[in-house]
Amino acid sequence: MTNYAEFHRRSLEDRDAFWAEQAQLVDWKTQPKQICDYSNPPFAKWFAGGFTNLCHNAVDRHLKDRPDQAALIFVSTETNQEKVYSFHELHAEVQRMAAVLKELGVQKGDRVLIYMPMIAEAAFAMLACARIGAIHSVVFGGFASGSLASRIEDASPKVIISADAGSRGGKAVAYKPLLDEAIRLSSHKPDSVLLVDRGLVAMNLLAGRDHLWAPLRQKNLNTVVPCEWLEATHPSYTLYTSGTTGKPKGVQRDTGGYAVALAASLKHIFCGNAGETYFATSDIGWVVGHSYIIYGPLIAGMATIMYEGLPIRPDGGIWWSLVEKYKVTVMFSAPTAIRVLKKQDPALLKKYDLSSLRALFLAGEPLDQPTAQWISAGLGRPIVDNYWQTETGWPILAICKGVDDAPTKFGSPGKAVYGYNVKLLDENTGEELKGANQKGVVAIEGPLPPGCLQTVWGDDTRFVSTYWTTIPGRMVYSTFDWGIRDEDGYYFILGRTDDVINVAGHRLGTLEIEESISGHPNIAEVAVVGVADQLKGQVAMAFAVVKDTSLVTDDASRLKLEAEVMKLVDGDLGAVARPARVRFVTVLPKTRSGKLLRRAIQAVCENRDPGDLTTMEDPAALQQIKDLITT
Ligand code: ATP
Ligand code: MG
Repeated sequence: MTNYAEFHRRSLEDRDAFWAEQAQLVDWKTQPKQICDYSNPPFAKWFAGGFTNLCHNAVDRHLKDRPDQAALIFVSTETNQEKVYSFHELHAEVQRMAAVLKELGVQKGDRVLIYMPMIAEAAFAMLACARIGAIHSVVFGGFASGSLASRIEDASPKVIISADAGSRGGKAVAYKPLLDEAIRLSSHKPDSVLLVDRGLVAMNLLAGRDHLWAPLRQKNLNTVVPCEWLEATHPSYTLYTSGTTGKPKGVQRDTGGYAVALAASLKHIFCGNAGETYFATSDIGWVVGHSYIIYGPLIAGMATIMYEGLPIRPDGGIWWSLVEKYKVTVMFSAPTAIRVLKKQDPALLKKYDLSSLRALFLAGEPLDQPTAQWISAGLGRPIVDNYWQTETGWPILAICKGVDDAPTKFGSPGKAVYGYNVKLLDENTGEELKGANQKGVVAIEGPLPPGCLQTVWGDDTRFVSTYWTTIPGRMVYSTFDWGIRDEDGYYFILGRTDDVINVAGHRLGTLEIEESISGHPNIAEVAVVGVADQLKGQVAMAFAVVKDTSLVTDDASRLKLEAEVMKLVDGDLGAVARPARVRFVTVLPKTRSGKLLRRAIQAVCENRDPGDLTTMEDPAALQQIKDLITT
């Protein structure tokens, strides 16, 4: 095992040599002329002068050694379909899609918006865009017309690829009417709309604009579309952040840096090998879907599972049955999904043979200790928390198992990943906090490593002003998360910088209070926000989901539970952190990707407009809170 500290040090101090080596994990048509051009900070150009192609690396280059090996495993428990595409078959399908896009006039640099359910054609579409140098913009299929319209407006796509419908819990969810409405709302109009007809919902086609995939595919069964060799800095895609804190930002990713970053992460962090199977339970609409359903595993020559369906249908064992069936070695999910499974029969975790699975990676939100312990004990497999953002495209903090035999620590996503010069900054002075156990804003000194965002799509100014600050002579990228680093270099994420509340001069992380409250045996989930208070500046307000609702049926029982929760917080954190009120709800407002929408709760509590709610999962959740505070 390499000495990880040395590996990390080298990635920063001998940056170009380090990344020149990693670059050999992918194929290049022309080798890069320069490894990192950082002459115009904070804009970093990785592998300038090099020519490559993401689709070539994900598909074509495997045809020589593994043409018949599984590449894409599509499983839908919604429509009861299961289909395995070999690399050879995937290559053929991607070329057909690429041929159709070209026929519709798509050229290198054009944008193609993909608004699709989790079906194989969505993967073909992404890879086909990469193949011809079109810039894809995948919009999560669960979004309605308003969110979709703003993304169409921002990406101005020449073509939109969609389907008749998605499906959730066995019920078809029509996409086409939402798409038509979104196009109507947007001032930008696509030339063409390409539609996959799954036979779930009838579609009205607009003559001249709308085209069905099946006949065009048939026409192009044998059309050869070679990969377009693209400069390493050519944008591969744009993707909007989850929208937890405000207006979603269009993250723009490059080609060469992303390919290298993913290939290296598969090797050093995920330890996935060619010929094995990767299963990320995310959606292609999110960054995990881009990096670890589609590009990362395929670049590594692994088969990847694309799963359409709920984690608990037909039962809570469905994911584990897939791990057994396809001998999954690497799995990636989110704490929110594990919390869903936690409400199911724990025996389901033991029903299947999971011996192939080396580790379950979890990211996207804080991994609380009870959830981590429950899943790790249940599976008997290592759990690896890792921390990153849509912006970075791959982990910032993790234990890089391929090059580091250090243990994981509960509550910590691990240490700074190679390539990331992670700093903690003092919130007021902006100065670096060098000592251990000091709380600061997690920041990354530029240049960001390969694979991270190049800029905000169409808005360099927003990129610089949103993310970057200068500390004497250097530029640093802010993650907008609080963190702390212990003496061993492990980081602990303490919440978002806008999730801190100030009670009578005491600064408290909403997350700490939430963790304390979650310790109550009858609390399933809780959100804490700071609410303006004339006397104290701010007070904490808690909204909790109870496990056993029969214990809170009337005011007296609610007050009793509220008092118990308050006592718990008093004991854990002190009376200063005690919420002014603890109210009980059946569901909490979350984004579509399962993140708590604290800012919306806070706005409602302060009687303000909650702002952009386009990424919210269930509007009824916020209504419950509104009703509670007005009574
Ligand atoms: P927006 O930027 O639009 O407000 P978002 O930050 O939720 O939305 P993402 O990029 O999907 O969008 O999420 C990244 C954020 O998720 C991180 O900045 C951090 O707050 C949180 N996060 C991700 N992984 C972890 C983790 N392992 N532990 C704690 N927090 C995490
Ligand atoms: Mg963010």
